[in-house]
Amino acid sequence: MSPDFDVVVLGSGPAGEKAAMQAAKLRRRVAVVERPGGLGGNCLHTATIPSKTLRETVLYVAGIKQHSLYGIQTTFRKDVTVDDLMRRKEAVIAGQLEVLEHKLDRNAVTSIQGSGRFLDPNRIEVIDEGGRRELGAHFVVIATGSRPARDPKIPFDDERIYDSDSILRLDRVPRTLTIVGAGVIGCEYACMFAMLGTKVTLIDARARVLDFADAEIAELLVARMRDHGITLRLGEEVAEVRCETPDRVVAETRSGKAVVGEKLLHAVGREGNTAALALERAGLKAGRRGLLEVNAHFQTALPHVYAVGDVIGFPSLAATSMHQGRLAMAHAFGVPVNGEGTRLPYGIFTIPEISMVGETEEQLTRACVPYEVGQAFFREIARGQIVGDRAGMLKLLFERASHRLRGVHIIGEKAAELVHIGQAVLAFGGPVDYFVDNVFNYPTLSEAYKVAALNGLNRL
Ligand SMILES: Cc1cc2nc3c(=O)[nH]c(=O)nc-3n(C[C@H](O)[C@H](O)[C@H](O)COP(=O)(O)OP(=O)(O)OC[C@H]3O[C@@H](n4cnc5c(N)ncnc54)[C@H](O)[C@@H]3O)c2cc1C
Repeated sequence: MSPDFDVVVLGSGPAGEKAAMQAAKLRRRVAVVERPGGLGGNCLHTATIPSKTLRETVLYVAGIKQHSLYGIQTTFRKDVTVDDLMRRKEAVIAGQLEVLEHKLDRNAVTSIQGSGRFLDPNRIEVIDEGGRRELGAHFVVIATGSRPARDPKIPFDDERIYDSDSILRLDRVPRTLTIVGAGVIGCEYACMFAMLGTKVTLIDARARVLDFADAEIAELLVARMRDHGITLRLGEEVAEVRCETPDRVVAETRSGKAVVGEKLLHAVGREGNTAALALERAGLKAGRRGLLEVNAHFQTALPHVYAVGDVIGFPSLAATSMHQGRLAMAHAFGVPVNGEGTRLPYGIFTIPEISMVGETEEQLTRACVPYEVGQAFFREIARGQIVGDRAGMLKLLFERASHRLRGVHIIGEKAAELVHIGQAVLAFGGPVDYFVDNVFNYPTLSEAYKVAALNGLNRL
């Protein structure tokens, strides 16, 4: 007997949505299972969208601060809640939900509300308040995302000690905040709260922040963080966290330091949402932190069960999750795709933002590739001066002999947008000469590509 669906997708975040859409475009019968109120994924409700909406407000406030230097009087209410600062969140979520529902509908994807789990390798049980339902499927896509990892030794109460989901429910902007974990989320929140006037201390056991980024860019970010008044305690492991009074949380480090803050955000990694999937009934097993292991085509140990997005771990970004969803379904139905070997861009929305694509200096050095560096500083570019970005920098890494572009690393205004120009040249295997030989609009930040290319070629 033919199963009910060709594909059942568990989870409707960026990974699940794109897997469903790809399969539907191939005219397969697709169902997406999502928990009540969860359509759009954590991405829409607790992660990317709320945090980037908050950031937008923060940038506005920061801009106001800058303008006050020029004599424009501004005020910023001190009793403002984090929710106040995310006012636009509801409108953005509603808009995105409408688009998603319309897309699913137009492409005849069946949307099923409830929590899904395996009954056997080809059958999914969906449980909802209204009862249970069984779905048979040729292929299953696990796109159930992740949640903040909660260390049992940390006394989370979501009133003084928060994780990266509950921090968005802060009743007001705290005067002091300790953040444990200088990964992407920890660094992003450190910058946002610092711009709101909170005194932030950022602690991490690792000796540097964002260890996957180019070291020079990470150093520039650290310098900017210090300018914003953030205290960094790197190479320090937190041994204990305790609440002493209603507005005094102490984080004690192994080296004996006591970092005191009014609130504490514990942002030390995330774990895959696999515990409720009854994986054992399908003969599958999750690994460390509940993450699933997959091969290059996103197949789990069972070839007809794919896993995509945060549930498979790094890089755990919305954009990469979408790409994985699409590639998985293209593989399942034997459709050739371009882009399997694509170098993924990373956008990190610290203040200033960071973006990168391709290799870092450290990776090229390890691989013994003779390379040259070309740099452009935004303070030397007309647009950079107009927008007042004095710390921005764009850096190109290219092979000395062939001039082939190998990496693009940017810190500063619009970094996450600018990186895509370099990404295109990288994808086509082009040389840095492209940037010299072509004309860029003026005055734009894109001009930094030409300046950096000339700078690098002059060094040869
Ligand atoms: C604070 C924060 C900021 C971020 N900022 C950015 C950013 O700026 N840019 C960026 O690219 N990425 C960002 N990310 C990462 C991004 O949000 C994730 O990479 C992305 O959401 C992963 O998509 P996904 O589809 O794998 O899972 P999710 O978006 O987590 O969605 C998974 C869905 O599966 C559902 N689900 C789980 N279990 C079941 C089940 N048993 N049955 C049915 N449904 C189930 C969940 O309800 C959820 O809706 C951020 C993350 C955080 C935490």
